Amino acid sequence: MSAPAPCRARARRRAPPGPLGRHQAETLALALLGHGARVGVVHWATGVKLEVLGNWFRHLNGRPPPRGPLPESSGSMVRTRAQQAQASLFGVIYARHYNPDMGGRAMDPWGLLRAYELYLSLGTAGRTAPLSINDAWILARDLRGGLASLDWCPDCLAYYVATQDGILVGCPLCALYARAGGKSVRAHQRAPDASALQASL
Ligand SMILES: [Zn+2]
Repeated sequence: MSAPAPCRARARRRAPPGPLGRHQAETLALALLGHGARVGVVHWATGVKLEVLGNWFRHLNGRPPPRGPLPESSGSMVRTRAQQAQASLFGVIYARHYNPDMGGRAMDPWGLLRAYELYLSLGTAGRTAPLSINDAWILARDLRGGLASLDWCPDCLAYYVATQDGILVGCPLCALYARAGGKSVRAHQRAPDASALQASL
């Protein structure tokens, strides 16, 4: 399956590169913690002290911050076609919101937050549990780091998340469609150069 051509995604609201100001960092931290983000993830994204973040997490969520490791990679996190479809939806939205001016930052935490909230607002999870904010962070990290990619499906003309170390190969939408009894209609379309997303991450 051919990789999509490079394109720089536009960010709706671009945060300036470099260290966050205190107010900006705290605003971002509270928003991420409100979605249940791990304290370690929020510390990485904002620089706010771990002890402070732990207290905020407890206050916002009514429980102590969870401990234990996160999944090592998106490949180990995405185990079913339904999960892969959810990951693909978030991945496409994140690519659209990633700020390419982040300089040396490996990821765009504001883009992550905006994309995650938009992903949740679409309400498409159905019987599948939606990605958590921590899952979204892992996926965004791996898309940036090359352990995951947005590949183009020439059959259903959609982008989907492919992971390097995962067990799932190919397009989740086509797999779910076929599982539901849908007939394959091979469209043989090339990836649209102008809207390709991968290189923006
Ligand atoms: Zn497909």
